[in-house]
Amino acid sequence: MTDATERPFRLRRHARARRITVRVDVDHGLTVTIPSRAARADARRAVAELEPWIAPRVAEWEARRRTVRESAASGLPYRGTTLRIVPEPGRRGVVRDGDDLRVPDDDAARDRALRAWYRARARDVVTPELERATAAVGRPATRLRITDTRSRWGSCSTTGTISVSWRLLLAPDGCLEYVVWHEACHLEHAHHGPAFWALLDRLRPDWREPAGWLRRHGADLRMWLPPTARDAA
Ligand SMILES: [Zn+2]
Repeated sequence: MTDATERPFRLRRHARARRITVRVDVDHGLTVTIPSRAARADARRAVAELEPWIAPRVAEWEARRRTVRESAASGLPYRGTTLRIVPEPGRRGVVRDGDDLRVPDDDAARDRALRAWYRARARDVVTPELERATAAVGRPATRLRITDTRSRWGSCSTTGTISVSWRLLLAPDGCLEYVVWHEACHLEHAHHGPAFWALLDRLRPDWREPAGWLRRHGADLRMWLPPTARDAA
């Protein structure tokens, strides 16, 4: 058993942090955020104090991540189906062949190529869906960005840029559509007030099921293909 004081953690300093916060981050595991003037020893003390809270959460996170990473070696979810991973020596990009994804042999190249492939597919899928949604809302989007966001599946800027995470392709069918229509409704209502939900309800009365799925399982989508440092920003 590990000595609690030696439990590894990721340290983040935050100028605006008023106190020490400890959380289990889906990408990095145990993460401690401290005010800029606090010391690493303060963080270590907090970790030791909170050990009873931390231990089961880190164990659950590790088990979940292990399962996902092991499954990812053989197959990846794609809109409710599973695509089989078929490594091929010398291959650089990813091609889909029925339910097979032909991928590079090397692990790092494989994940990079897969992220690029999912990103491109996301643009293919989101573009026509966004056109339908903005036509229904009656306001055009100015730009579409495919992202790998940390906490939000989509966003709508004040200038009309719609951002959607490619990771929604890892979720069951309907989740990506829900986010596209949700963001399109923000072109009309830039808030989550009753008028916003009334519009979404009228255009996508089936929104509750995918929204619930994302609330329950959304964090797991980040475990399939770990984000790069650049993407995770
Ligand atoms: Zn919203």
